[in-house]
Amino acid sequence: MLITEDLLLHYKRCPRRAFLDIYNDPNSKDRDQDFLLKLRQDSLAHRQSILALTTVQRPYYPSRDWQAGANATLELMQQGVEQITKGVLMLSLSDDLAVPSFNSLSYNHGNDLPLVTSGSPIAVTLVAYPDLLTKHPGKSDFGDWIYVPTTIKLGRRPKPEYQIVAALQAQLLAATQGVWSETAQLILRNQDSYSVKLERWVPQMQTVLKNCIETLLASPAPEVFISRHRCSLCHWYSDCYAQAQAQQHLSLLPGVTPSRYQDLQMLNLTTPESLANASPAQLETVFDGELTTQLIRQAQAVVQNRAILKTDSPTSGALTIPSAPVELYFDIEAEPERHLDYLLGVLVVEREAERERFYPFLAEQPFEEAAIWQQFLELVARYPDAPIFHYSDYEVDTVKRLAKLYDTPRSSVKSLLSRFVDVHQCVMGTVTFPVESYSLKHLAHWLGFEWRDAGASGAQCVWWYDQWLRTGDRTLLEAILRYNEDDCRATYRLKTWLCEFLQAAATNCN
Ligand code: SF4
Repeated sequence: MLITEDLLLHYKRCPRRAFLDIYNDPNSKDRDQDFLLKLRQDSLAHRQSILALTTVQRPYYPSRDWQAGANATLELMQQGVEQITKGVLMLSLSDDLAVPSFNSLSYNHGNDLPLVTSGSPIAVTLVAYPDLLTKHPGKSDFGDWIYVPTTIKLGRRPKPEYQIVAALQAQLLAATQGVWSETAQLILRNQDSYSVKLERWVPQMQTVLKNCIETLLASPAPEVFISRHRCSLCHWYSDCYAQAQAQQHLSLLPGVTPSRYQDLQMLNLTTPESLANASPAQLETVFDGELTTQLIRQAQAVVQNRAILKTDSPTSGALTIPSAPVELYFDIEAEPERHLDYLLGVLVVEREAERERFYPFLAEQPFEEAAIWQQFLELVARYPDAPIFHYSDYEVDTVKRLAKLYDTPRSSVKSLLSRFVDVHQCVMGTVTFPVESYSLKHLAHWLGFEWRDAGASGAQCVWWYDQWLRTGDRTLLEAILRYNEDDCRATYRLKTWLCEFLQAAATNCN
């Protein structure tokens, strides 16, 4: 069994993914999303920009021939080359699947951490490929020098999975040079170097590795658990989502996290029906009262396919959502990699005149951001009494960022922000919807609203804008404008529905 650092990283994020990567038919993978391709391009560019700052040598070997790569890397290390990129480190574990322990000074070939039960017939080979191996003074099997591994990542934080990979590289390097490096390095998005504490992360990596091997040797695949953040870019999403839907899996209920799911399983509540019919007293043995109410009500909304008023919420009630003769609906498209907010879209709704007009303030080139910010300010100043509806807090944060960047007077920004109304917060404080997520897309879909381009999304727009800048293809800009306008219109639809729903509920109460 071959376990690469990528497989271990994916296992750390989702054990099921590692299992499917090994055993599932690769033809049933989803096509890589454009946004993922962009992330890969950005990641490669980041890596290249860092490697360009230094002189490196690379071993030559046929692509994915790990053994040849490890041999060629070993030769360079024995020669004492200062910096090696694209090196390969390999370690074949013996048949009893033991991995040497971590010792901060020397490499211990003792077999004191069996990965699986002794006598297993499976041989395991571990492969890592650090972005850099850097020569330092010290004593190793090579002579008066040792190597330290470096991994270059695009992330902003030293995530646990990055540190697990760095620890694996350190372990395999220790096996190659006969001594542990004192640390392993991570270089992150801001180009700062981060030292991974091996005494902490090597034991954790070994535990993850042990669990990974056990998972890969077991059958069937680990249970599906749909988590929007984790699954949205995974190439098994269609496969897993279909299975979750067929099973009516509780991970499709908002509010059910992996740890809450475990608690619900202990209570033998494993379907939306059982949760919808559960007594609060049963759940309150594990959850607090508020969470108990939330989980049961969410299950009831889904099972009964109806929106349910949160009568217990202090913010419920129509008065919390303003209505005005003129209302503005605001949505932004951004390019995070360039720190750019390139489209400020505003739908102006004149309710009495029954007129609607969409204003897309678009920076066709990044340097135009200042100009579109001014155009946006001029438009909202034309309607000083109009509330500005948006969905989620991104718009507020962006207005603060742009105001600071372009020296907008503080008093104007304060007065502008006082008109902002976050429809997401209004929803969360008042109604439970029969949806899988409280994203604008899911809620508006439930209300029957459709985006004109079915495949469009915020992430897709990031790719489209990047491609527009590279190719000048205006059809991409047009698609972004349609998507942004539809987001504004979906927010309008949702706000209107919410006001009517709360009004009807208030009337029924009186
Ligand atoms: S879609 Fe989600 S549950 Fe399925 S393998 Fe990918 S990350 Fe894991």
